[in-house]
Amino acid sequence: DGTTSATAGPGPAPRKLRKGMVLGKDGKPCRSCTSFADFTSQTKSITKSTAGRPHVATGPPAGCPPDVEELGRSSWTLLHSITASYPVSPTPTEQSQVRQFMGLFSKLYPCWVCAEDFQEFMVKNKVRTESREEFGQWMCEAHNDVNRKLGKKEFDCSKWEERWRTGWKD
Ligand code: FAD
Repeated sequence: DGTTSATAGPGPAPRKLRKGMVLGKDGKPCRSCTSFADFTSQTKSITKSTAGRPHVATGPPAGCPPDVEELGRSSWTLLHSITASYPVSPTPTEQSQVRQFMGLFSKLYPCWVCAEDFQEFMVKNKVRTESREEFGQWMCEAHNDVNRKLGKKEFDCSKWEERWRTGWKD
């Protein structure tokens, strides 16, 4: 009936959950773990445009807490931009800082289901910090791992620097 396939974190779970809903560790619906479409009912997400035609809202309205997709897009923008500004030849201290940052990021990421999978990826695929190119490639591979999980198209990692640092070649 569309109410039973939610993913629950530790803690008390409500009896009836909407399909696709992920619960937080407090047992309440986790906005940053769930898409806006799953968070609201389908009828609630259909709004009237100014032309009077109905359209389906694809994300939370401006000024509202992010859903799993908005949080993800913003986070990938930050992560790839960090690789783009990383030194070509980093010092041991810079490499250690990046390892610490990625370790903490993977623990603090607000979508706990995403965070758990990302931590698992990082155990199997140690972050490569020895150069900008290695770090940029590693991040691209990490992002592709999530793309595959979500059934999205993989990104061509030979193009990561054009996408995130130099801009596209003509
Ligand atoms: P995004 O995947 O957010 O990508 C943004 C842009 O990055 C794309 O438009 C493209 O230009 C570029 N890009 C795409 N792939 C690559 C790549 N491999 N390398 C470089 N650039 C690339 N969502 C879930 O539903 N479940 C999860 O378990 C989950 N885990 C996540 C874990 C992490 C660490 C992060 C940061 C996000 C996670 N997300 C998860 C969110 C998910 O990855 C997407 O951000 C979200 O679904 C929105 O996708 P999108 O299609 O708008 O583009």
